[in-house]
Amino acid sequence: MTVRDTVLDRFREQFDEAPALVARAPGRVNLIGEHTDYNDGFVLPAAIERAVHVAARPRADSTVTLVSVDFHSDTQFSIDDLDDPDLPAWSKYPRGALWWLQNRGHSLPGFDAVIGGDIPIGAGLSSSAAVEVVMIELGLALTGAEMSQQDKALAGVEVEHQFIGMPCGVMDQMASAMGVAQHALLIDCRSLDVRQVKMPAGASIVIMDTAKRRGLVDSAYARRREECEAAAEILGVEALRDATRDGLEAARDRLSSVLYRRARHIITENLRVQAAALALGSTHGGGLKTAGQALRDSHASLRDDYEVSCYELDVMVDIANAQAGCYGARMTGAGFGGCAVALVDEGAVEAFVAAVGPVYAEKTGLEPHLYVTQAAAGSGVERV
Ligand code: ADP
Ligand code: MG
Repeated sequence: MTVRDTVLDRFREQFDEAPALVARAPGRVNLIGEHTDYNDGFVLPAAIERAVHVAARPRADSTVTLVSVDFHSDTQFSIDDLDDPDLPAWSKYPRGALWWLQNRGHSLPGFDAVIGGDIPIGAGLSSSAAVEVVMIELGLALTGAEMSQQDKALAGVEVEHQFIGMPCGVMDQMASAMGVAQHALLIDCRSLDVRQVKMPAGASIVIMDTAKRRGLVDSAYARRREECEAAAEILGVEALRDATRDGLEAARDRLSSVLYRRARHIITENLRVQAAALALGSTHGGGLKTAGQALRDSHASLRDDYEVSCYELDVMVDIANAQAGCYGARMTGAGFGGCAVALVDEGAVEAFVAAVGPVYAEKTGLEPHLYVTQAAAGSGVERV
């Protein structure tokens, strides 16, 4: 049964009638462009086939009843009192989106709703961005207001910053709201310009969750950001996005070895994102091979220059890269655990999945989770 069916069934069971609306927002995976976002650089994510769905029906009063399939919990609150700290923690992300809409003058009715999804939570595939975006979609549909997909994404970012208190970048929500089937999105994190990059036929995206939960990530993340700022200042640029390889070499003796390597990662990673986007979008063939090499180089740079990989990610990526039909693999996300991603020939993907899991489990003692996907469409809402 699909998630959409589960959510629809649950709605009928719970409320004894059919919903009026079903909204959907997908998770995302970043194909390449890691730690470039806060350096004003480039990222290349795709929306994935796993998504959060919410089915809803407006009510005549101001009460919201929200049922979570995945948290086995339901909650009730007033649409005019969204930040009550006694409400269940899981409901904070959906409430945040409603709060944003109310703050922007969208006068929302109460409603009954069921929310559920198949994006693994806390695995780095951004289930939180999907929840924010799906609730923005729902809220807008309930009032009849319209917004561009980009503005829905930026609304989700503000929910995360202002209601949740997480200073995230724009990539997750933009991929969730603006995704296009069979396309990756080349996002310029400075201008927020988005270019759709058609994925070549014949390849699957495989996401490999190492089952190693990210430790130390917050402090290391903050330190990397400081190092990038320090390097940019020495290089005399606004952000490392503006630095060049030549500029970096010219300033080498003014940079510590650590700052030099951090800057080299960002500069070369931005080049790899552009190269990968160009290769994937090319109609001449060979694009997957070139893009796959960019993924492999990205991993080496994140491991050696940026130092955000870990044993489990290195093992997973090495196993993946050694499989027949694998164009390239790398860690994805902030690092120190979480997921890796690979581009794999469609005909080889079954054997790839069958081989990678057991070898990884034997080497690490951890049980990985592999998800095969194509680049999927972004968020939307349907009347049912
Ligand atoms: P992720 O890395 O997957 O984004 P986060 O910790 O940032 O993980 O966000 C997880 C939160 O998002 C959950 O605690 C919950 O509030 C919300 N969430 C995610 N998926 C669902 C879902 N299927 N149903 C309800 N809430 C969800
Ligand atoms: Mg999140």
